[in-house]
Amino acid sequence: MRIILANPRGFCAGVNMAIESLERALQLFGTPLYVYHEIVHNRPVVERFQNRGVIFVDDVDEVPAGAHLLYSAHGVSPAIRRAAAERNLHAIDATCPLVTKVHLEATRFAREGYTIFLIGHEGHDEVVGTLGEAPDCIRLVQNEAEVEALDLPAGAKVAYLTQTTLSVDDAEIIIRALRRRFPHIVGPSRDDICYATQNRQEAVKELVPEADVVLVLGSQNSSNSLRLAEIARACGRPAYLIDGVREIHDGWFGGKETVLITAGASAPEEVVEECVDYLRRRFGASVEARTVREEHVSFPLPRELRLVNV
Ligand code: SF4
Repeated sequence: MRIILANPRGFCAGVNMAIESLERALQLFGTPLYVYHEIVHNRPVVERFQNRGVIFVDDVDEVPAGAHLLYSAHGVSPAIRRAAAERNLHAIDATCPLVTKVHLEATRFAREGYTIFLIGHEGHDEVVGTLGEAPDCIRLVQNEAEVEALDLPAGAKVAYLTQTTLSVDDAEIIIRALRRRFPHIVGPSRDDICYATQNRQEAVKELVPEADVVLVLGSQNSSNSLRLAEIARACGRPAYLIDGVREIHDGWFGGKETVLITAGASAPEEVVEECVDYLRRRFGASVEARTVREEHVSFPLPRELRLVNV
């Protein structure tokens, strides 16, 4: 067996920052420490913090007045910020700056009188947060059929934005459909789909022709991980999205020579290493790391953590 390890894979700059923020907040404030939603969409990461006394909540009302509440990498709506302020919570904002950029674009388009189409997945934490920036002006569109069903005239003042973790190709299809319906539609000056999502997808697309089977490390609720598995399947390869080595089935590798391994932006490198070690031991696999694109992105910790002295 030959393993191709896709690069880049795994943690992006936003996830690194969010996890470091939570580590730092634990150091500074101790437990109980509250996080609004999962810090990142990865089960092993969330469980590790739960075991250290971090409490993940889906409702600000679950947090006792005066406690510390950290916002996850996916961002929150202004209503959540207001609710936290009303409870006198000490908010720490670990929203990825690339998500914040989309929020700012939404408020700018709304201020300028646009109806905004947000291309994204209903119910995803990031989408809920972005919709909350201008709930009266933003509509979610998830596919071409929803674009066709829009009830606005072709000359309407419209703009589009996208979730940061979409499939580049799927988003392009929806953007093209929007342009057909609304030739004057405007969009963000640069793509909203973030560099990490694009690079991980590009690496899979480039390397998958050499593979017989693909393992994507990531959780089932991780949008960018799901997209990596979908891309591999669209190229005709079986692809399995798993949280870790315990979910591997040996039967996946019968008659398969080359395994491509990648990881979504919220999956820690140790889960990749555990899978590689297992395939080495079980199938005598050799490992080849292949870099499709270099990444040198990092984000500073939130202001609330930088300003605190221990
Ligand atoms: S996937 Fe992209 S937008 Fe999401 S946290 Fe990572 S860098 Fe930020």
